[in-house]
Amino acid sequence: MLAMLCAFLAGAVGWTFTEYVLHRFVFHGSGARGLGAKEHRRHHAQVDYFAPAWQKGLAALAATAILFPLLALLVGPAIGAAGTLGFVAMYVLYEVLHRRAHTHPPRGRYGRWRRKNHFAHHFADPRLAQGVTTPFWDFVFGTRLSVAQVRVPRRLAMRWLVDQHGEVCPAYAADYTLVGARRRDEVAPGAGGDAV
Ligand SMILES: [Zn+2]
Ligand SMILES: [Zn+2]
Repeated sequence: MLAMLCAFLAGAVGWTFTEYVLHRFVFHGSGARGLGAKEHRRHHAQVDYFAPAWQKGLAALAATAILFPLLALLVGPAIGAAGTLGFVAMYVLYEVLHRRAHTHPPRGRYGRWRRKNHFAHHFADPRLAQGVTTPFWDFVFGTRLSVAQVRVPRRLAMRWLVDQHGEVCPAYAADYTLVGARRRDEVAPGAGGDAV
């Protein structure tokens, strides 16, 4: 039982490493051209875009199909299954945490770190802060990114970040600032432009 628990945890840690390597070398690597890189570039250009669920399901299935037989061969089917389960469970958690970082406001210290780190990756330097769920691998490979305040382009701002006036909600003002022009449809009537 303990061996299975260790295998599950090792599988989860294995996913965080895969998350780092995929993001850094497959999605952002020089000359990255595959479907994953294309979808990821679209996610950066259009931050509320996420690759369709079927692609993610297929990726999880492919990982299981490769990982389980390999682990079963090395450490036996039971421990191999636990390791594969840990890997896939952490992958699913990553998908949820990444999406929620974009769609929901932070709650707690981890949520606040996760968002600030990920949006520094999006808007300050996409070559750094490749880890989404943990800073561990960025720390190990020297790609940590720490910014005092993330400068978020107005047109790409997360919905939870801005208030009804189109400014950063006071609760997040210490971590984020908006830069660039407002979207046309956000300009209040009477604020100039085409208002009659
Ligand atoms: Zn993102
Ligand atoms: Zn990225």
